[in-house]
Amino acid sequence: MVSGRWSVVSRSPEETREIGVRIGRLCKAGDVIALDGDLGAGKTCLIQGLAEGLCVSKKSYVRSPTFTILNVHNGRVPLYHFDLYRLSDIDELEEIGFREYIYGEGVSAIEWASNVKDAIPAECLRIGIRRAGEAEREIEITATGERYERFIKIFGTQIYRIINGNKG
Ligand code: ADP
Ligand code: MG
Repeated sequence: MVSGRWSVVSRSPEETREIGVRIGRLCKAGDVIALDGDLGAGKTCLIQGLAEGLCVSKKSYVRSPTFTILNVHNGRVPLYHFDLYRLSDIDELEEIGFREYIYGEGVSAIEWASNVKDAIPAECLRIGIRRAGEAEREIEITATGERYERFIKIFGTQIYRIINGNKG
């Protein structure tokens, strides 16, 4: 299977958010973004940018509770934001109709995706975030499948420019 990898160091929440915005702009219905990283790594921060890139209103975002497994936001396409940190068993996933969402009409962004490894499609965009300092975060993006490979080629150069201070 086609795959590609891109990694970058973000130096502020704004940079991480901006990476999310760039990814969001390129997303279309059916895309799956699987995120992993410790508590406080910046997964939600990146997804807030993703929401902006999908034209989700800030109001919708701010109102959403952070303790639920799923928040749905209306944007240019729906954003299904999953947080599987507190997921106790896989049946809970079935109950909320996880499959219908990830193979559905929106973009799925899944925090703690590795908690449900078997339920994540083989083809997806994986984002790993690792704390590398107070405000430094190493972000590694892995694309699996043709769709996501193309994706990484496009935003790879954009992200490079953001991080290097040239917001082209
Ligand atoms: P997670 O969803 O992974 O638990 P959050 O996005 O909720 O993490 O929180 C990330 C925290 O780290 C926020 O308080 C944010 O301000 C802080 N932070 C500091 N530097 C960065 C960075 N470069 N990228 C993302 N978040 C950062
Ligand atoms: Mg979070």
